[in-house]
This record gives sequence, structure tokens and C-alpha cells, in this order.
Amino acid sequence: MATLGTEENPLLVAIVGSGPSGFYAAEALIKSDTHARIDILERLPSPFGLVRSGVAPDHQKLKQAIKLYEKIAESPDFNLIANVTVGTDISVEELCQSHHAVIFTSGAETDRKLGVPGEDLTGSHTATEFVGWYNGHPDYRDREFDLSHEVAVIIGQGNVAADVSRILSKTVDELKHTDISQHALDVLAESKIKEIHVIGRRGPAQAKFTPKELREFGELADCNPVVAANDMVLNPESETELAEKSNIGNKKIYDQFCEFSKLEPDSSKSRKCFFRFLMGPKELIGDNKLEKVILEKNKLAGEAFKQSARGTGETIELETGILFRSIGYRGVPIAGVPFHDNWGTIPNEKGRITEDDNVVPQLYTAGWIKRGPSGIIGTNRACSVETVGCLLQDLDKLDDGNNKEGANAIYSKLDSKNIRHISFDDWKKIDTKEIEIGEPKGKPREKFTYVDEMLSIIN
Ligand code: NAP
Repeated sequence: MATLGTEENPLLVAIVGSGPSGFYAAEALIKSDTHARIDILERLPSPFGLVRSGVAPDHQKLKQAIKLYEKIAESPDFNLIANVTVGTDISVEELCQSHHAVIFTSGAETDRKLGVPGEDLTGSHTATEFVGWYNGHPDYRDREFDLSHEVAVIIGQGNVAADVSRILSKTVDELKHTDISQHALDVLAESKIKEIHVIGRRGPAQAKFTPKELREFGELADCNPVVAANDMVLNPESETELAEKSNIGNKKIYDQFCEFSKLEPDSSKSRKCFFRFLMGPKELIGDNKLEKVILEKNKLAGEAFKQSARGTGETIELETGILFRSIGYRGVPIAGVPFHDNWGTIPNEKGRITEDDNVVPQLYTAGWIKRGPSGIIGTNRACSVETVGCLLQDLDKLDDGNNKEGANAIYSKLDSKNIRHISFDDWKKIDTKEIEIGEPKGKPREKFTYVDEMLSIIN
């Protein structure tokens, strides 16, 4: 047989998950000197992962990444097999038989737990649910959010918390020309929320927002950002942190908070978004439904850059009927793939999947499921390039001499189980229809939010 990675004997790679890291892995393979054919498997009928269903609808610029992914999909060596769940519809073992290598880029699909009493009360939600709901993700389409309360609480001060609080803070007019799902816009239009409290367990010098995302709170049509001036007083360790040149992002965040703390609130605006620091949830209280949250005041302990939040025992209460836990995502295990349960990631060495510190042949990983949920969309490119680099170094080991059938083997398996699979051309039909429906509303698209709806378009 011809050498693996040549036109006569192309390297067959299955990628599990069609989010940014999946597409960047495909791009790296296509651009390499090795001749590779790529099959990306996706659980939903729609590709693009978090760019479609995680990036906030009012951040359309970030969604431009899709244009690049569409270009990658034009390659004759690229193939999408969507509406297929790896681990259920097709096993990892089957993928290893049909392909020389498998790259897992399934992201971080679920949330970390707070681990406090009352966390599962009605009215206490994960950010994932809310983000998925307003972005029309089929898994979260039918979730209900009771916005009839005046006070909403968001736990966490990362960019997802910024997205959730900004969507709650915006008016319908600010959102109606985005690709926010109509069902969510209708509920948000009836929102009675007047106060949004964004709670950080550490101080303003440690908040994880990015400067642009925080700045947007000063530009909202009907919401004032509120920061208490005395919260801006820093301990010496935090001052050391902000004086460090490489920590310029946090310095900008802190300066922005200082600016907010000096603002004279615009009395014509009906909502307030409070940024509160050095407190964490101790207990969520309610009789089946959330009624209030007990917050414990914290102090910082430890040296600069390693400061952690320690409870002081002093508590305050905040009456609220709705709370969002936005404290970071974690990956979910896939049957047949090693998983690090504490970290919510797949154990790996630079993208080579490991089990008990030994490299598992044929299996690779990239993106959030490889390194945890950090960084912006572009961060995943370097991560995928690293993984593909390792895969290509292993080329000799990937050729087991057996004939691999690639996509055809997957199709026969799926067809024998009567599992409907969607190609990139099929997806483009759904895409075109969404854009068409959105147009008269002045929206970039109106997403289909049920899998059956999407499949009926292809029919
Ligand atoms: P994140 O940036 O890691 O922020 C998590 C927040 O939750 C932090 O404030 C963290 O505080 C806090 N937290 C963690 N555990 C907690 C606990 N037990 N109790 C109270 N607070 C706790 O995570 P994320 O917001 O989910 O964002 C994930 C990644 O996606 C980030 O890299 C983010 O920048 C990116 N993202 C980017 C955009 C954008 O570019 N516009 C939008 C959305 C998301 P500590 O700092 O004390 O741990």
C-alpha cells in the first residue's frame, strides 16, 4: 500500500465536534503537506458549536468566524456528518476502525457546580441553560425563565456572566435586530427585572471579564452600571498584581470599575446592573422556589497572583427569585474515551490522549475538552494546531496496514441503524432558510430551535 498521507493513501481523520476547535483542526490538516480527508461528526444538525449557540446574539462580529469555517468546509477533503452522537449512534471503537485517527473537540458542554445548599431550587439556573435558550439551542429551547422578579443574581464575573447580565439589562430594541431567538425575545420583552447583581467571589482586580465586554455596560440604553466606591480600595497584593505590566487586561478592568463607581446614575434609565465583590453564595433559600440568597463576605488570602477568597463568616441576604450560576463550564465524558472527572477534561499530552499516563494510540483532543474552558475563540486555533502537529508526527504509527473505509464505513453503520445523517450541503439549506425567515424582521437569521424543524427543511 502507498505511504500514508499521500493522494493514493490519504490519512483519514474523524473529528468529533464541529465547534471552533474542530474546524481549526480540520484547517490545520487541510493546510498540512500530508494528504488528509476529514470527517467532522456533530451531534446537532447544525455545525459551529459555541459560535452558533454560545456567542451572544448582540456580538455578531464574533460570529464572523463562521465565514472562515465555511471556507474550510469548501475543501474537497472536508466532510460533515451531522445529527450523529458519537458514543451512542456510533462508537469510538467503530471510528478507530474506519479512520486512522480521531480528534475529540467536543468542548465543555455543562457547568461546574457551586456545591451550596439550595443550588437546585426552581429559579436557580446555570448560565449554560440561559445562554442556550436565548441562542435557540435545541437542548434548551423549552427551558422556562421566570423574569417576573425585580432582582436577578448572577454568580461569577467572567465573560459568560457578562453576556447573561447584558442580555438581562438590554431593551428589546437593543436586541431585536440580532439573531436572538424569537421565543427568548418575547419573554425578555415582558421582563420585570430592575436590578441585576453580578457577584464576584474575589475583588475588582481579579474579575475575569475582558475590557471590551465590561465597557459595554456603560453604553446600555436603559441600564446604569453601579459599583460602590469603597469596593475600589485594594489590598497591597492586588495593587502589586495591577502594577505588573503583563496584567494590563485586569488593570483596564479595574480602571473601568473605578469609572463606573464615579458615574452619576442616569435617572432616565430604569435598570441597574450592580457589580459586587468579595462575596460568594453560602445558601440558596426558598420553599421549592428560590426566594433569597445568603451571601458570605470574603477576604482575599495568599500572595499576589495566587490570592483566593476566604469566607469571613459575615453574611448578607439578597431577596431574589432568579439566579444564574456562571462559574465556568466543564466537559462531559464520551463512552470509550478516558476522562479526568475532577477537571472535566480528557487527559492528554499536547493533544495526544493519555490513560494512566500512557498515550492511547489513534486518539487526540483539542479545544476546551483538552485544556478546560478558557480563552477566546481564536485561542482554539493554536490549541488545534498543536494537536494536529502531534498527530502528524505520529503518522508512521497510525498506519496499521488495515484498509480504512472512512466516511463510507460510518454511513453504512448509521444507515443500518436508521440514523439520519446531515451533510454540509444539507446544513446550507437550513442556513439559507433561517436567513430568509430572519430578513423581514431585520435579523441576520431566525434560528430553528427544534431538531425536527431543521430536518423537515431538508426533506
Ligand atoms: P471564567 O472566565 O473562568 O469565569 C468564571 C467566574 O466564576 C470567575 O469570576 C470565577 O472566580 C467564578 N467562580 C468560579 N468558581 C466559583 C465558585 N465556586 N463560587 C463563586 N464564583 C466562582 O468562565 P466563563 O465566564 O464561563 O468563560 C469561559 C471562557 O469563555 C473564558 O475564557 C471567557 O473569556 C470566554 N468567553 C469569551 C467571550 C467573549 O470573548 N466575548 C464570551 C463568553 C465567554 P475566580 O476568578 O475567583 O475563580
